[in-house]
Amino acid sequence: PPAIPAAASVPPRAEPAVDAFRLSVNLNSLTDLDAVDPAAVDGVGLVRSEFLFLSPAEALSEERHVACYRRIVTRFAGRPVTLRLLDLGGDKALPGLIEGGPASLLGERGIRFLLAHPELARIQARAILRVAALGPVSVLLPMVTLPAEVTAMAKLFDEEAARLARLGVPVRRPPLGIMVEVPAAALTLDLFAEAAFFSVGTNDLMQYLSAAARDNPAVAPLNTGSETALFRLLAQISTAAHALGKPVSVCGDLAGDPEAVARLMALGFRDFSVAPSRLPALRALLRRPAMAEG
Ligand code: PEP
Ligand code: MG
Repeated sequence: PPAIPAAASVPPRAEPAVDAFRLSVNLNSLTDLDAVDPAAVDGVGLVRSEFLFLSPAEALSEERHVACYRRIVTRFAGRPVTLRLLDLGGDKALPGLIEGGPASLLGERGIRFLLAHPELARIQARAILRVAALGPVSVLLPMVTLPAEVTAMAKLFDEEAARLARLGVPVRRPPLGIMVEVPAAALTLDLFAEAAFFSVGTNDLMQYLSAAARDNPAVAPLNTGSETALFRLLAQISTAAHALGKPVSVCGDLAGDPEAVARLMALGFRDFSVAPSRLPALRALLRRPAMAEG
């Protein structure tokens, strides 16, 4: 197995119980899926579903969605799988359906695009409702700003669940959680009564806090320089989520950086989801040597 980086290279920290931590994996593709040992992680904390479909025709095929999700849920046999609804727009274009680009960073991205194109959202919802009958699936809503967006998506899921049930199709209505990646939502978690859980997307949260695009090297120093602002907001998110008694995880790239994770742990975060390549470093930090390599 690859060498595990020395834990001594990270700052000192309090020593919480080993079992208090959860380490999950982010999946960007079915190739990622094949590369990860499901027994070596606590589950899938984020499936970036927008990367699973290479054309509008694929994204509009309910059966194609079902095939992808079924593979993931079956492979993770019984471990929690968090499927994020299509986060299209911004840096994630699907030519023919949505062009993306800088303009859409502040436009119809993520859940905004889905609510504006409910036929697409309904296809994905039906596929998820069908696959959720096979295992512990939950759903993440991307780019949520207001509670009304969650209400609208919950209604859409309920309607599709009822429709499938009438047809005799086995379904399970999964819990809906939100990505915490728009500052307005991050500052008002208590208003999101319908969100069952929170997952912090530090990549977008940082870019929207600093007003500096995440993929533009010319303004990258503004993002790194805004770390103090980001951590103040993260502290507030952790406090609010714990006060509400709702699960909170971190799935942005920050969760793959051991030094940042040590700081996140000090703020009360215990649940991290990282890219497959970051699993060994995080495992070393979270002191889970018993886990096999993923
Ligand atoms: C994030 O924004 O931090 C996140 C996890 O989502 P994505 O990187 O896919 O936008
Ligand atoms: Mg994001």
